[in-house]
Amino acid sequence: MTAPVVVVGGGLAGSECAFQLASRGRAVTLYEMRPQQPTPAHAGSDLAELVCSNSLRSDDPHHAAGLLKREMERFGSLIIAAARRNAVPAGGALAVDRAGFAAAVTAAIEAQPLIELRREELTALPETDECDCVIATGPLTSEALTRELEQLIGADHLYFYDAIAPIVTGDSLDDDLLFRASRYGKGGDDYLNCPLDQAQYRRFHRRLLEADTIELREFERPLFFEGCLPIEELARRGEDTPRFGPMKPVGLTTPEGKRPHAVVQLRQEDLARSQYNLVGFQSRMTWPEQRRVLRTLPGLESARFVRYGQVHRNTFINAPLHLDRWYRIAARPRLRLVGQLTGVEGYLESAATGLAAALYLVLQDENRQPSPLPDTTALGALARHLTESNPKRYQPTNINYGLLEPLAGRVRRRERRAAYVARAGAALEAWADSMRIGGTKSWPPQFSAPEREKPNAAARSPN
Ligand SMILES: Cc1cc2nc3c(=O)[nH]c(=O)nc-3n(C[C@H](O)[C@H](O)[C@H](O)COP(=O)(O)OP(=O)(O)OC[C@H]3O[C@@H](n4cnc5c(N)ncnc54)[C@H](O)[C@@H]3O)c2cc1C
Repeated sequence: MTAPVVVVGGGLAGSECAFQLASRGRAVTLYEMRPQQPTPAHAGSDLAELVCSNSLRSDDPHHAAGLLKREMERFGSLIIAAARRNAVPAGGALAVDRAGFAAAVTAAIEAQPLIELRREELTALPETDECDCVIATGPLTSEALTRELEQLIGADHLYFYDAIAPIVTGDSLDDDLLFRASRYGKGGDDYLNCPLDQAQYRRFHRRLLEADTIELREFERPLFFEGCLPIEELARRGEDTPRFGPMKPVGLTTPEGKRPHAVVQLRQEDLARSQYNLVGFQSRMTWPEQRRVLRTLPGLESARFVRYGQVHRNTFINAPLHLDRWYRIAARPRLRLVGQLTGVEGYLESAATGLAAALYLVLQDENRQPSPLPDTTALGALARHLTESNPKRYQPTNINYGLLEPLAGRVRRRERRAAYVARAGAALEAWADSMRIGGTKSWPPQFSAPEREKPNAAARSPN
């Protein structure tokens, strides 16, 4: 009898991977160290906890993130199904009620007879001569396992810092000073917007510059991830930088018909609109400074903070030196790495790598030599980024069309996205046909009823 696959880490990647394996007939032992062993960012004990934003990015089928979602759904993704079941309005994005989402993933995993869920920290890498093992321990991999990985692959680990955006309660906001709208009317009234005129913006920009922050150490600075810069770091780059970033006013008009100079957008965290996160306001300001500075925004004078912005380590390996297209570690082919630890960035991308690695494992078990998912698909392009990037400049990335094989010939700009999507769909079907791989056997997954009233498990209450 084949030994169960050991999956370590019940986050986005590990949960998807374990579910795919089990629903395709493979026994799995899934290790998750929480709640006994906490991480600096997770707050609850459910699997697949979203530690910061509640958004899985764009759901537009022509956006690269939308394409990746549809490719994952083609193979019966647990993460996307749970997200859709717990979606909250967020314009064109797929955002979720985080407590409901994590509870749904946990229930689906617990309902899988082929998955044994062990609530334990794995401190040593298993001997993989006798079993397959998938490491999905994420950016906050426990110290013991980080040391093990370092021993295995050498000193090629990189560290950078992610910043979490603050969350405030809906009832502490002044509705008279904020207005509901989505950029360019996409998504109706999903966002609350705090408009600033030029003088207000300048004052706010100065406060950002003057605020006390938790400093990074010098060796960490060059590794800061450009896509997730703290708001005060953006402010330091120039007065207009935040206004061309998260505070951009484009596509928004106040109820009085004015175009604001800058805008702070607040995205609802739950269906009840009881909590909102300040979009793009990741921060390294100290907590008292965050409260002081953000409360100077019109409409947020009495804001109650459910969670402040924070900074955290993010661990990932230099994947081009160590991984192959099947997510295997070159030195130990029965050991695979998936999720953020590989250097993909984001909930969605992490789950996607867990799904792909599971498909490869199942195919390999059945003695079918899996060819890599095509470079013309979002799933294949992610793995290509991990394996074919320049290791000297390797940085995490979200899915984007720049990672896919370029389109052949001249395609008009406005037709490009549709062309990428059509090509990806055809390539994915051809790959699935040639591999004789279908949807999952236990599709759709069994979800318990959504628990909307449950308190937000991922939110902390520093107040
Ligand atoms: C502070 C912070 C903010 C972030 N904000 C965002 C965001 O807004 N949007 C976004 O898309 N992405 C964000 N990310 C990235 C996010 O972590 C990933 O996108 C995603 O959660 C990674 O999925 P994963 O499965 O690789 O890791 P995780 O989801 O972190 O799952 C890893 C799991 O492994 C467990 N674990 C760790 N070590 C062990 C061990 N030795 N034994 C057993 N279990 C173990 C952990 O408890 C955890 O549950 C953020 C990351 C951090 C650190």
